[in-house]
Amino acid sequence: MSWAERAAAVMPGGVNSPVRAFRAVDADPVYVAGGRGPWIEAADGRRLIDLVCSWGALLLGHADPRVVEAVTEAARRGTSFGLPTPQEVELAEKVTRLVPSVEMVRMVNSGTEATAAAVRLARAATGRDVVVKFEGCYHGHADGFLVEAGSGAATFGVPNSPGVPAATASTTRVARYNDLESVEEALASGDVACVIVEPVAGNMGVVPPRPGFLQGLREACDRHDTLLVFDEVITGFRLGPGGAQQRYGVIPDLTCLGKVLGGGTPAGAYGGRGDLMRMVSPDGPVYQAGTLAGNPLVVAAGIATLEVVEEDPDLYRRLDEAGARLEGSLQAALGRDGCVQRVGSMLTVFFGPREVADWRAASGVDRDRFRRFFRAALDRDVLVPPSPFESMFLTLSHLEVIDQLVGALTAAVEESA
Ligand SMILES: *Cc1c(COP(=O)(O)O)cnc(C)c1O
Repeated sequence: MSWAERAAAVMPGGVNSPVRAFRAVDADPVYVAGGRGPWIEAADGRRLIDLVCSWGALLLGHADPRVVEAVTEAARRGTSFGLPTPQEVELAEKVTRLVPSVEMVRMVNSGTEATAAAVRLARAATGRDVVVKFEGCYHGHADGFLVEAGSGAATFGVPNSPGVPAATASTTRVARYNDLESVEEALASGDVACVIVEPVAGNMGVVPPRPGFLQGLREACDRHDTLLVFDEVITGFRLGPGGAQQRYGVIPDLTCLGKVLGGGTPAGAYGGRGDLMRMVSPDGPVYQAGTLAGNPLVVAAGIATLEVVEEDPDLYRRLDEAGARLEGSLQAALGRDGCVQRVGSMLTVFFGPREVADWRAASGVDRDRFRRFFRAALDRDVLVPPSPFESMFLTLSHLEVIDQLVGALTAAVEESA
């Protein structure tokens, strides 16, 4: 029996997270035996250049020796105490040094927890219940976020997963990405606790904010006494040492982090203005806790990753250059058949639309052609994320294989036509 067959008998879809099942590309999941740098080795022995990179959690590459060393060292000292450690303080100091909006921070275990906790804090701070999110943005799987737009941009949402109570969904309002008018409508009733946004969207494929969009959100939130929450779970430490907020010069009230923060271990964090964070228990009344939060293995991997970021900030320029080369070559191969959208080391090929600024445009992609592209890339030993609505991620280790990668993916775009 294959791993896929054994897995399907004991795990829903044979996986622990849905897109790993490869359903969107009609393929069996790749079960991974190990990884090194830009490469993964599948359980069947195949070696692939990986562009999933743990959905963006890896900035340095697989099994980076600095991270492996730090985690191993930490494990020898004990894997969990449920008591604070000096290393947690060091990591918190790094995060507050690097991320402009973050004066104080609380570690959690995932991005999902980070966004859920940030929303609770925003509701407590404002005394309001409604949360505005954007169509096509993903903020983890907490009930209130599993909501899509109704017919109007500013209507109350309906749950799009069974199991989400209608009462919960009704506190989520959906606006349109890159559309400030829809935000104004959503805020008009004066009952909105926060607007939460991916400052560069990465979960409908890569959709950059149009010039003025993030600034406009900041101003609209200020006018309506609503908090602005940046979900930088992908963009934090990926688009620069200070994330998208530094890159675009817009400072949110609260910031959610995850992925790169944990250097490939299960991490999340939320942070922001000191007066807001002091409302969190035990300084304040907003309850939020975690048995394994600030876990020593996670903190060690996070420190090792952020040390590289602090010591070598030029790494973002090198990643950007590699990304630009890949983008240029893929766009040339694509011609008028679609667009390549990229910010730094995040990139998506959209087959069909000439520009994607929101979910409506993204959802119009040619899914058949994407499937052909995915297979053509796999035939050339490159693993592209198995969905047209995900970002490819480059790590520092990909710089070593950039020629091979550009050649293989460009050929895959051509073959998929
Ligand atoms: C991945 C992701 C999350 C959820 O993080 P998990 O660690 O998977 O719970 C939240 N927001 C964004 C923007 C993400 O990309």
